[in-house]
Amino acid sequence: MKIALLNHGCAKNLVDSELMLGLLAEKGYEVTLDDSQADIVVINTCSFIHDAEKESVQSILQVAQGGKKVIVTGCLPQKYKGELKKAIPEIAGMVGTSDIREIVDVVEQVAKGKNNVNKVSERPQYIYPETIERQQITMGPSSYIKIADGCNYHCGYCIIPQLRGEYHSRTIENIVEEAKSLIEKGVSELVLIAQDTTSYGIDLYGKNSLAKLLEELNKIDGEFWIRIMYAYPSQMNDELLDAIAKLDKVVKYIDLPLQHYDKEILKAMRRPAFDYDELIAKIRTKIPDVTIRTAFIVGYPGETDEQFNALYEFVKRTRFDKMGVFEYSREKNTTSYSMQDQVPAKIKRQRRKKLMTLQQKISKEINENFIGKTLNCLVEGFTDDGLVILRSQHDAPEIDGMVYASAEKSVIPGDFENVLIENSDEYDLFGRVV
Ligand code: SF4
Repeated sequence: MKIALLNHGCAKNLVDSELMLGLLAEKGYEVTLDDSQADIVVINTCSFIHDAEKESVQSILQVAQGGKKVIVTGCLPQKYKGELKKAIPEIAGMVGTSDIREIVDVVEQVAKGKNNVNKVSERPQYIYPETIERQQITMGPSSYIKIADGCNYHCGYCIIPQLRGEYHSRTIENIVEEAKSLIEKGVSELVLIAQDTTSYGIDLYGKNSLAKLLEELNKIDGEFWIRIMYAYPSQMNDELLDAIAKLDKVVKYIDLPLQHYDKEILKAMRRPAFDYDELIAKIRTKIPDVTIRTAFIVGYPGETDEQFNALYEFVKRTRFDKMGVFEYSREKNTTSYSMQDQVPAKIKRQRRKKLMTLQQKISKEINENFIGKTLNCLVEGFTDDGLVILRSQHDAPEIDGMVYASAEKSVIPGDFENVLIENSDEYDLFGRVV
């Protein structure tokens, strides 16, 4: 029997999809990413904001209308449980965020013709299923490693802690073992992810242990990069910054979603409200040539013109290398849902556009500074017209820009090559392999 898996949402969800694929393959199921070829389709869903939910629901309806048996997993059934089945009766089975191991049983029951198989824990507690061998969905020469899941924060706009439970770290030994096996398989970049990577180890070892984990990963033999995503501002301590600066395999790239600048808005968001100018200055002093990516939410309830302008001025003087801007999305069961002074959609849109326009100009100028420099890049693949697609350590996979280069020698995906940068635009760099 052929099973297809469709993945929605973030990198953390992708790892869960890969774990489910691994379990199904181990049981002898033929697994595919093409739903037209399958008898049963597993749809791993996202429920972070309304738009993501809509995308997941559309995917379920589309597959169900095609006459396939549908199993829905992840955040959507975790959030809505029985209501989801009532709303879409075609759903034959459901698996919650912390019930990944049940996927085989649910598939078996659905294959036998049952159509109301429900394995969704009432109180999710995501514990990484260490014994499952992941079946990787291709991401070029890079691979995500989930170092923890769940979250102990309660940001005012976020529903994740309700969907994933408390923060749970994996042990350093388990992560290093997984990293070694990925490197042996030819992976050239390990991308460490969690809802918040910088809280790593607090639950297991009684203190932040990301620096220690990086040191252990850095000892693994081979030529590869280590990248950390999703840092939390108040956890950027000196020990971690020093580790990033000194460890040769750790890329000098920090993904630090700040969400806002104004302290009143940050407090209303239940986020750390301290001097972010100082934090950025400290990072830049400790890690010369660091690339900083951040993200902001505009139009949070109560955000005034002055507060938005303070954010705008912060972005203008800080000149982040990369930046994402999101309009606040009002989600049920979050503390911001019932806040007064919701900002009209039109103003949210305008504020996002204003910030993005500013960032495009900054990004273009930053990219121009690379012209004439030689960057060590990871080969990702080739364009149809024969250019090599690469990525430098300044860019994270799937969200940042690429380097496109001509080459007079043959190059292989997964290898590192030097590229002389000759041209640029807001997002990408262009040059030749030297
Ligand atoms: S840190 Fe905040 S935004 Fe991130 S998952 Fe936790 S609660 Fe959500």
